[in-house]
Amino acid sequence: MTNKPITLMPEDIQRIIGKDAQRNNIAAAKLVAEIVKTTLGPRGMDKMLVSPLDDIIITNDGATILSEMQIEHPAAKMMVEIAKTQESEVGDGTTSAVMIAGKLLENAEKLLDKKIHPIVIVKGYRIAAEKAQDILKELSLEVDHKDEFVLKQIAMTAMTGKGAEDSKENLSDIVVKAVNQIEENGFVDLDNIKIEKARGEGIGDSELISGIVIDKGKITLDMPSYVKNARIALIDIPLELKSPELKTEVSISSPEQLQRFLLQEENSIKEIVNLVRESTANVVFCQKGVDDFASFLLARNGIYVCRRVARSDMHKIAKATGAKIISNLNDLTQLELGSAENVENVKRGNDFYTYIQGCKNPKAVTILIHGGSDHVMDEIERAIDDGLGDVSCVLKSGLVVPGGGAIEMEVSRRLKQFGQTISGRERLAVEEFANALEFIPLTLAENAGLDPIDIITELRAKHDSGDKNAGLNLFENKVANVLEAKIIEPYNIKSQEIDSATEVANMILRIDDVIASKPDKRGKMSFTGERGREAEFMSGLE
Ligand code: ADP
Ligand code: MG
Repeated sequence: MTNKPITLMPEDIQRIIGKDAQRNNIAAAKLVAEIVKTTLGPRGMDKMLVSPLDDIIITNDGATILSEMQIEHPAAKMMVEIAKTQESEVGDGTTSAVMIAGKLLENAEKLLDKKIHPIVIVKGYRIAAEKAQDILKELSLEVDHKDEFVLKQIAMTAMTGKGAEDSKENLSDIVVKAVNQIEENGFVDLDNIKIEKARGEGIGDSELISGIVIDKGKITLDMPSYVKNARIALIDIPLELKSPELKTEVSISSPEQLQRFLLQEENSIKEIVNLVRESTANVVFCQKGVDDFASFLLARNGIYVCRRVARSDMHKIAKATGAKIISNLNDLTQLELGSAENVENVKRGNDFYTYIQGCKNPKAVTILIHGGSDHVMDEIERAIDDGLGDVSCVLKSGLVVPGGGAIEMEVSRRLKQFGQTISGRERLAVEEFANALEFIPLTLAENAGLDPIDIITELRAKHDSGDKNAGLNLFENKVANVLEAKIIEPYNIKSQEIDSATEVANMILRIDDVIASKPDKRGKMSFTGERGREAEFMSGLE
């Protein structure tokens, strides 16, 4: 009998088994947490991300950083996924979720070193997460849904540290009003809020407009600037003869022929305009191009027209005004039109915008962000997104928790006490889970230039003596009662953080075999199995 090895897979398949796989995955996940760590909290730093096309994003937002980074390592990608889940489920808390997951894995590594089986750790973490949720619920405070003051504080806590500081009064006011306007029996559909940006003026001039604002003005000066009782047509085909993508050749041999041809073209356009006119529309939003001659004729009929309107805007206008988007002009009748009290051409900064106000659906609102540069406005938009997420969370659940690391400290303390009651090795995992939560206050302190060890010691002492709202007040850079300082966060965000972090940490811990069949772009495997070379997973940053 020959001793020929059995081959199950092609040669270029790379496989990492057992401890190596675990350690490699943990190292990658930890690195992801390290990356976002410095951005946490109001004193967090920003990152500048440069795309291959030299587009620059300057941001403090965990989800944005991770999704722009082109992360390749499979375990690291799982971490990015939880940031995305966190963002889509509750709209904020991404950095914290990723950091807690990273710390859970780092602490699990310590237990693995002590020869504790991953399955025991996974079980311990699950027990701890469940208990943490109970404690969190117990510690949460009910707030009045309608209390604008509290909602504003929540918006402010969500937005601090994201370039919105100087105008946070105004911005948090806008966020709360916007959410209140679209709220319906505790249900908030953030899709009803459109965010538009206008370059020029300061961030503080940002405003909330009832209705929809789009970043396109009317096409020609002859069109009306203000249309009362607007009847709105939404058209997603070009109002011109042929689309420019089509190459057509016409051979003409006599001047008469040319004349006839031009006349024919003119008539076709007139026909198009007639169809629009017959529908009784006095405002048209066209997703594609509109011919000069068509614009001229439409203007002569007193019709207000915007062209090349973004698809997403078309849908927003449809929702707000009740118009149907049509793709064949023969279908355009009065029934397909939407309505609004008025449509207006407005100049903001250097550009023209169209305001559609008094919409059929009063739940459509637009937040118009002003700012000096696109980078600034983009970051304000992300801050507003977080603010909207947080405020709508509280409107839904009516529950808040103290921020500034206070809630993490208290949950951690009670979890440690609970750990004492558990027998078996899971107890060690519960303790490590509790330790991982302290990573949040610790990092908030570190990012603010405070001594993290001193702060944690002080916080522990305060919490041990019953001061459960002791946290970091980073308005004043000291340990204080954060409820009094109005640093509050939605309960749902913290609850989701614990869920997402535990889920990904446990998933990564259970993996003991990685089989990779796809070499990366550089011909190497995306991971190497060797510790210390983990940084390879960030191909984009090399
Ligand atoms: P995430 O992506 O996790 O939301 P952030 O950068 O938004 O990360 O930071 C959120 C953390 O900052 C929360 O723990 C919150 O309590 C804390 N925080 C916000 N404002 C303050 C403040 N003024 N003082 C102390 N902590 C604050
Ligand atoms: Mg946040």
